[in-house]
Amino acid sequence: MFCAEVINPDDRKRRIKCSSCGISYAPRDYKILYENKKIVYFKHKNRIYCHECLYKILSDHAQGKKMTFMIKMDGYKFKCKLEPNKSFDEGESPFTDLF
Ligand SMILES: [Zn+2]
Repeated sequence: MFCAEVINPDDRKRRIKCSSCGISYAPRDYKILYENKKIVYFKHKNRIYCHECLYKILSDHAQGKKMTFMIKMDGYKFKCKLEPNKSFDEGESPFTDLF
């Protein structure tokens, strides 16, 4: 199953960078953005992705079908569903439910 782990800013000492789009933040800034639900970084297959890039990877993976995936956060696991053709309002993402 597709699985990704939320990177907790409190565990982050070094600058964090999305390996797909390259967006990067200092740990202090990531913490602020994370707390304001502006950006979340995930670890997936030993790479780091921002939530937007992870969502793209998920969509490619799902190929227009419904897909269940797993999100790990603070030692807990959450099952999430990707609904194809579902549009999101500004500031929303398939991960909004996590917070
Ligand atoms: Zn990215």
